[in-house]
Amino acid sequence: MKEMNYPTIQHLIGRDWIASPTPEDRAVINPANGQTIGQIPQASAADLDHAVHSAESAFRRWKNSSPMERSAILRRFADLLRQNDRLIAGWITLDEGKPLVEALAEVRSSADHVDWHAEECRRIYGRIIPSRSPRVQQLVVREPIGVCLAITPWNFPLSQAVRKVAAALASGCTMILKAPAEAPAGCMAIARYLLDAGLPEGCLNLVWGNAAFISETLIARPEVRKVTFTGSVEVGKHLAELAGRHMKRATMELGGHAPVLVFDDADATAAARALAVNKLRNAGQVCIAPTRFYVQQGIYDRFLSELVSAFESVKVGDGLAEGTQMGPLCHRGRVNAMEKLVEDARENGARVLTGGKRIGNHGNFYAPTVVDTPNDDIDLMREEPFGPIAVVSSFRDIEDGLSRANGLPFGLASYVFTNSLERADKAAAGLQAGMVSINQFGLALPETPFGGVRDSGYGTEGGTETFEGYLITKFISRNRAPVL
Ligand code: NAD
Repeated sequence: MKEMNYPTIQHLIGRDWIASPTPEDRAVINPANGQTIGQIPQASAADLDHAVHSAESAFRRWKNSSPMERSAILRRFADLLRQNDRLIAGWITLDEGKPLVEALAEVRSSADHVDWHAEECRRIYGRIIPSRSPRVQQLVVREPIGVCLAITPWNFPLSQAVRKVAAALASGCTMILKAPAEAPAGCMAIARYLLDAGLPEGCLNLVWGNAAFISETLIARPEVRKVTFTGSVEVGKHLAELAGRHMKRATMELGGHAPVLVFDDADATAAARALAVNKLRNAGQVCIAPTRFYVQQGIYDRFLSELVSAFESVKVGDGLAEGTQMGPLCHRGRVNAMEKLVEDARENGARVLTGGKRIGNHGNFYAPTVVDTPNDDIDLMREEPFGPIAVVSSFRDIEDGLSRANGLPFGLASYVFTNSLERADKAAAGLQAGMVSINQFGLALPETPFGGVRDSGYGTEGGTETFEGYLITKFISRNRAPVL
């Protein structure tokens, strides 16, 4: 651990790194072995006040910076992420737990996201609306909204924050980032390398501590114009209420419980193997992970036995160890949640075909688990597991499949496997979700929009839509004739 230079976790306010220790500081734990690897400082009211002033005063200059300047800084930042990918990936594996190869992919995809924003910010256009009089010119201009508060989760500690930071900075906003205490090093890397890339002081401020205190304090501040959150539905709804009370713009990237429809004309073996890999990525702690598997009756048994054998072949272990395919869960609470869901499934008529238990007695390891249920009346079919459990049930026809897939209030990702174009089209049109992926896993690329509907939130990250949440639209009508 020492040799990986795990960073000291500090606030960044303006250009100052601050880590004034308090008795409430909480430990950062390596989920693979329970060892303490760092301490999270707690922001005081004075720290938050300082961060608001810093972001507000930086905004006065940054909003008028040229897109070329912003683009150049972001490109340098992306290069620094790539040059330091192994170091940052090691940190992510240490505090979040995912296998090193997945952490490396997270760093590289984060750099790609930054590049996309560096390119796109040069194309934030306004427009001219033809007027009713030749003397009048009507302009629509897009302006950065102001200081933004971002609150990000631990499961992709680098990439979830990068999407928000890159979009805000590229559009001319400044930001206060409240980063996740469970896996803090990714956000330390963002702050460190953005400064190294030449970001002016105050454009990004990083704070740690009590989430409720930070969000309530900052959302109420008039200087903070927007809140962007990625996390659970419960916290998202609370923050949306707070934002509404203070009339602040909000983007809410919330949880899902992604349905998968596997039709009986699909290749059961190929679908099961591909789904197993995607389900177990980051030990299932992925908001777009396939989680509710609806498989048509004709291929049900074959699909199930292929899925079980794929799950049983996965090598679980410390993410830093050679050959590990699935690491521990990020914190102990997730292991407890898995145990509760499996207990409920067993008590309510479902069969646990593999897994269903912790592995070992240190670290947060939980076995890849397949649960077969005859109906949707178990908690696993209602609650997002956010862990390595696949719950599988059979469906009759497309109407049955769609109605069960749409039967929850969530609407983030959804997946379809079929060789019928007609079924694919019908499923894509019928699924109530922000994203539908057919016969592949093609979500969360920088150039494609990412976001949910219904309880999964609102607003979009990525794609050309990525700046919408950070810009205001101003209409200017001007008379070009001399004023009499
Ligand atoms: P969480 O909502 O518990 O925590 C997310 C962040 O919110 C953390 O930084 C936490 O400190 C903060 N938070 C907690 N209480 C808060 C409060 N009262 N005020 C302000 N901030 C508060 O979620 P989690 O357990 O960290 O992440 C898992 C959830 O996030 C899952 O539901 C998952 O689906 C969702 N998620 C969604 C996306 C997406 O893009 N839609 C991506 C990743 C995770």
